[in-house]
Amino acid sequence: MTKCKECQQDDVYIHFGEEKLCLACYNVRMEKQFGVAATSYPEGVVIRDGKGEVRHFLLRKRMDLLGIFMEAKEMTEGGYEFNIQDDLYSDQGELLLRLIAKAERGMAEIYVERRTFPNGQNYNSIRNDRLAGRIDSNLTDERLPLLAINGKAYTWEEVGRMLMGYKRFQVKLEMLDSYEEIVWEENEVHHFWNQEEEKV
Ligand SMILES: [Zn+2]
Repeated sequence: MTKCKECQQDDVYIHFGEEKLCLACYNVRMEKQFGVAATSYPEGVVIRDGKGEVRHFLLRKRMDLLGIFMEAKEMTEGGYEFNIQDDLYSDQGELLLRLIAKAERGMAEIYVERRTFPNGQNYNSIRNDRLAGRIDSNLTDERLPLLAINGKAYTWEEVGRMLMGYKRFQVKLEMLDSYEEIVWEENEVHHFWNQEEEKV
């Protein structure tokens, strides 16, 4: 990767006019412009998902005219990614905690589980009659995006196969940008929690 024009050390993160800058140098430029510094924050954070599996996130904070943007991103294909934004003068420590809390909530529910047919063949099944995920670009096939669910990338064919058991069911599909949060209505949750209770 190209190195930052300013520090010559870190990888380029953003194009600032003609200049290519790393995130830290970009934030220093923003500080000069808006008078708000990016306070120090951890490089990464480790959070357990809804299955109890350890997930490693890279954290980034970007200062901008429009506010402070923070992201927690798993550096894997289809990996979890969470974003948060607030105004420039918001409490940055609290913003980080809110991002972590958003990640925890976003990983709490497992939507897809592996099941096995009597003949031993594995298949993916939708666990609680609902799915949420993120539309990702597909580097091997530009015609169709991938759907990242529970930190894993699925092709539309794989998603289609998961829907085979739902013929004649209705479906609702709603798009939310990455700064919004997927929240299910309370009355939809009982099915999920009942399944949890059965396992106890
Ligand atoms: Zn730099």
